[in-house]
Amino acid sequence: MPYKNCQHILEDGHKCNRTFKVPTHRSSRKLCPEHERKDTSKGAGIRKIQGKQEKMREFLDDLYTWKIEAIDRRIDKVMEQQRTLDSKLDRIIDNMEKLDENFTNMKNLNSKVAQSIYHRGPEHFDKLQKQIITLNNKIIKISDENDKRNK
Ligand SMILES: [Zn+2]
Repeated sequence: MPYKNCQHILEDGHKCNRTFKVPTHRSSRKLCPEHERKDTSKGAGIRKIQGKQEKMREFLDDLYTWKIEAIDRRIDKVMEQQRTLDSKLDRIIDNMEKLDENFTNMKNLNSKVAQSIYHRGPEHFDKLQKQIITLNNKIIKISDENDKRNK
Protein backbone atom coordinates (compact mmCIF):
# COMPACT_ATOMS: atom_id res chain seq x y z
CA MET A 1 0.00 0.00 0.00
CA PRO A 2 1.31 3.41 -0.98
CA TYR A 3 1.92 6.19 1.46
CA LYS A 4 1.33 9.92 1.30
CA ASN A 5 2.38 12.84 3.49
CA CYS A 6 -0.28 15.02 5.10
CA GLN A 7 -0.54 18.42 3.41
CA HIS A 8 -2.38 20.04 6.28
CA ILE A 9 -0.78 23.36 7.33
CA LEU A 10 -0.37 23.56 11.07
CA GLU A 11 -0.79 26.72 13.14
CA ASP A 12 3.00 27.25 13.14
CA GLY A 13 2.95 27.35 9.33
CA HIS A 14 4.62 23.97 8.85
CA LYS A 15 3.01 21.02 7.10
CA CYS A 16 1.74 18.19 9.27
CA ASN A 17 3.69 15.86 6.93
CA ARG A 18 2.45 12.78 8.75
CA THR A 19 2.53 9.70 6.57
CA PHE A 20 -0.67 7.83 5.97
CA LYS A 21 -1.73 4.90 3.84
CA VAL A 22 -3.74 5.43 0.67
CA PRO A 23 -5.42 2.67 -1.41
CA THR A 24 -3.64 3.80 -4.63
CA HIS A 25 -1.18 6.48 -5.77
CA ARG A 26 -4.02 8.16 -7.62
CA SER A 27 -5.93 8.74 -4.40
CA SER A 28 -7.00 12.35 -4.01
CA ARG A 29 -6.51 12.19 -0.27
CA LYS A 30 -4.04 14.78 0.92
CA LEU A 31 -4.55 14.68 4.66
CA CYS A 32 -3.75 12.25 7.41
CA PRO A 33 -6.75 10.57 9.11
CA GLU A 34 -6.70 13.14 11.95
CA HIS A 35 -6.70 16.21 9.68
CA GLU A 36 -9.02 14.58 7.18
CA ARG A 37 -11.60 14.18 9.94
CA LYS A 38 -11.20 17.78 11.06
CA ASP A 39 -11.52 19.02 7.49
CA THR A 40 -14.64 16.94 6.93
CA SER A 41 -16.27 18.14 10.12
CA LYS A 42 -15.28 21.72 9.25
CA GLY A 43 -16.85 21.24 5.81
CA ALA A 44 -19.93 19.77 7.40
CA GLY A 45 -20.04 22.78 9.71
CA ILE A 46 -19.85 25.13 6.75
CA ARG A 47 -22.56 23.18 4.92
CA LYS A 48 -24.65 23.33 8.07
CA ILE A 49 -24.19 27.10 8.28
CA GLN A 50 -24.91 27.45 4.56
CA GLY A 51 -28.04 25.38 5.06
CA LYS A 52 -29.06 27.57 7.96
CA GLN A 53 -28.30 30.69 5.93
CA GLU A 54 -30.41 29.34 3.09
CA LYS A 55 -33.25 28.59 5.48
CA MET A 56 -32.84 32.06 7.00
CA ARG A 57 -32.90 33.63 3.54
CA GLU A 58 -36.10 31.73 2.70
CA PHE A 59 -37.54 32.71 6.06
CA LEU A 60 -36.65 36.37 5.48
CA ASP A 61 -38.14 36.16 2.00
CA ASP A 62 -41.34 34.82 3.49
CA LEU A 63 -41.22 37.35 6.26
CA TYR A 64 -40.60 40.17 3.79
CA THR A 65 -43.42 38.99 1.56
CA TRP A 66 -45.67 38.55 4.53
CA LYS A 67 -44.77 41.99 5.83
CA ILE A 68 -45.33 43.63 2.47
CA GLU A 69 -48.69 41.90 2.21
CA ALA A 70 -49.54 42.91 5.76
CA ILE A 71 -48.41 46.47 5.11
CA ASP A 72 -50.40 46.50 1.86
CA ARG A 73 -53.45 45.30 3.74
CA ARG A 74 -52.81 47.93 6.38
CA ILE A 75 -52.45 50.69 3.79
CA ASP A 76 -55.65 49.49 2.11
CA LYS A 77 -57.39 49.58 5.47
CA VAL A 78 -56.06 53.06 6.29
CA MET A 79 -57.06 54.31 2.84
CA GLU A 80 -60.49 52.75 3.26
CA GLN A 81 -60.79 54.44 6.65
CA GLN A 82 -59.62 57.67 5.08
CA ARG A 83 -62.27 57.38 2.37
CA THR A 84 -64.91 56.64 5.00
CA LEU A 85 -63.70 59.60 7.02
CA ASP A 86 -63.67 61.80 3.94
CA SER A 87 -67.23 60.91 3.02
CA LYS A 88 -68.19 61.31 6.68
CA LEU A 89 -66.52 64.71 6.67
CA ASP A 90 -68.25 65.56 3.41
CA ARG A 91 -71.58 64.68 4.98
CA ILE A 92 -70.78 66.71 8.07
CA ILE A 93 -69.68 69.71 5.98
CA ASP A 94 -72.79 69.23 3.86
CA ASN A 95 -74.93 69.14 6.99
CA MET A 96 -73.09 72.13 8.42
CA GLU A 97 -73.83 74.01 5.22
CA LYS A 98 -77.45 72.95 5.51
CA LEU A 99 -77.38 74.06 9.12
CA ASP A 100 -75.91 77.42 8.13
CA GLU A 101 -78.46 77.69 5.36
CA ASN A 102 -81.25 76.91 7.78
CA PHE A 103 -79.97 79.43 10.27
CA THR A 104 -79.89 82.02 7.51
CA ASN A 105 -83.39 80.98 6.46
CA MET A 106 -84.55 81.24 10.04
CA LYS A 107 -83.00 84.67 10.43
CA ASN A 108 -84.68 85.77 7.21
CA LEU A 109 -87.93 84.22 8.37
CA ASN A 110 -87.62 85.98 11.70
CA SER A 111 -87.19 89.30 10.04
CA LYS A 112 -90.07 88.42 7.69
CA VAL A 113 -92.21 87.58 10.69
CA ALA A 114 -91.25 90.85 12.28
CA GLN A 115 -92.03 92.67 9.04
CA SER A 116 -95.28 90.78 8.58
CA ILE A 117 -96.40 91.55 12.07
CA TYR A 118 -95.40 95.11 11.55
CA HIS A 119 -96.83 95.56 8.06
CA ARG A 120 -99.67 93.04 7.70
CA GLY A 121 -100.75 92.54 11.21
CA PRO A 122 -100.91 89.43 13.42
CA GLU A 123 -103.11 87.33 11.06
CA HIS A 124 -99.99 86.02 9.20
CA PHE A 125 -98.13 85.30 12.38
CA ASP A 126 -99.44 81.74 12.91
CA LYS A 127 -98.53 80.64 9.38
CA LEU A 128 -94.99 81.98 9.70
CA GLN A 129 -94.68 80.63 13.22
CA LYS A 130 -95.45 77.11 11.88
CA GLN A 131 -92.73 77.50 9.23
CA ILE A 132 -90.27 78.55 11.91
CA ILE A 133 -91.15 75.50 14.03
CA THR A 134 -90.74 73.18 11.01
CA LEU A 135 -87.35 74.69 10.22
CA ASN A 136 -86.31 74.54 13.85
CA ASN A 137 -87.21 70.83 14.01
CA LYS A 138 -85.17 70.20 10.86
CA ILE A 139 -82.17 71.91 12.40
CA ILE A 140 -82.49 69.84 15.59
CA LYS A 141 -82.71 66.64 13.48
CA ILE A 142 -79.62 67.51 11.44
CA SER A 143 -77.76 68.50 14.59
CA ASP A 144 -78.64 65.14 16.20
CA GLU A 145 -77.48 63.28 13.10
CA ASN A 146 -74.20 65.15 13.20
CA ASP A 147 -73.74 64.29 16.87
CA LYS A 148 -74.43 60.60 16.15
CA ARG A 149 -71.95 60.55 13.24
CA ASN A 150 -69.27 62.30 15.25
CA LYS A 151 -69.45 59.70 18.02
ZN1 LIG B 1 -1.90 15.61 9.25
